[in-house]
Amino acid sequence: MNMLNKLFGRFSKDIGIDLGTANTLVYVKDKGIVINEPSVVAINTKTEEILAVGDDAKKMVGKTPAHIVAIKPLQDGVISDFEITEKMLRYFIEKIHKESRGFVPRPRVIIGLPMDVTEVERKAAEDATLSAGAREVYLIEEPLAAAIGARLPIHEPSGFMIVDIGGGTTEIAVISLGGIVTKKSLRLAGNELNNNILDYVRENFNMLIGEKTAEEVKIKIGSVQSTKEAVEYKIRGRNLLDGLPKETSISNMQIREAILPSVNIMVENIINTIEATPPELVADIYQRGIILAGGGALLRGLDKLIAEKTKVPVNIVDDPLTVVVRGAGLLLEDIELLKQVRLPSSME
Ligand code: ADP
Ligand code: MG
Repeated sequence: MNMLNKLFGRFSKDIGIDLGTANTLVYVKDKGIVINEPSVVAINTKTEEILAVGDDAKKMVGKTPAHIVAIKPLQDGVISDFEITEKMLRYFIEKIHKESRGFVPRPRVIIGLPMDVTEVERKAAEDATLSAGAREVYLIEEPLAAAIGARLPIHEPSGFMIVDIGGGTTEIAVISLGGIVTKKSLRLAGNELNNNILDYVRENFNMLIGEKTAEEVKIKIGSVQSTKEAVEYKIRGRNLLDGLPKETSISNMQIREAILPSVNIMVENIINTIEATPPELVADIYQRGIILAGGGALLRGLDKLIAEKTKVPVNIVDDPLTVVVRGAGLLLEDIELLKQVRLPSSME
């Protein structure tokens, strides 16, 4: 078996996966990022058939007839629906293999997971990846993958803090000497901000909007900065008073009001994590700053707000939405580093 592994290892298309609550990205060795799609699967409940995965499935969210469900198999960063996660991974892995001609052995897979996953959740991720067609699975904690993707010097004794704000979780980690020293995994991130906007619109406009609309406004005009310049954005939904369609405008200031309480909780957790960090490392963080990653890092003014509240300089990594999978990609090239940073397998 080992011999075969070695033999196939040279031809196999090893892949790195960022299995995110919001988006799944796949990196293929020597190719780069080949898949970057929402973590959504549309299923026909009558036949159990998969109708669509990724972008196509996300378009169906909130619009499905009774016999179709659009499922997000990951909630709060962990696998909440094992079977669907496995099907989604299988679909992506097969999609990659279809594109290459001839015999291709099953891939070695590196997969990023949130920090505080339980043994059971870890095993679920491993099992789903194996039964989706992987030959070997390596698990890595997302903040470490993000730091590697951002090419931060993780091995130095001088620490830094990385904050990865995704859809389901905000991962706060202090990294030094190749490992995570202090950490906090908060189950509050981008999705919750969407919910805050949804609630705000219901309470203040008597109007019901969909999840996708809420996310769209957040991305288009969302900001946590107080500014005198008003920016308006049109939203459509249902008037709760008469049940009829309604259109209205919402401003960046209103969005700020809606999301600020949640954002403040994120900031408080960052501060708490700094407080729980050994003093020598705190000095390093003050010097080297806090690094933001994940889609939530793109929220306007968030970097400034965190810098203001923590008195620590804040930087956003380049392309925060792809940094975890790029880290996994770099690890495919560096097996020694992979061995050092991987999580123990639940099968060992
Ligand atoms: P995950 O790792 O959980 O899949 P991602 O890192 O892919 O999450 O980030 C997805 C989250 O980032 C979503 O909640 C999305 O709404 C949010 N997001 C993406 N772009 C922006 C933006 N420009 N402004 C604010 N939030 C954004
Ligand atoms: Mg992520």
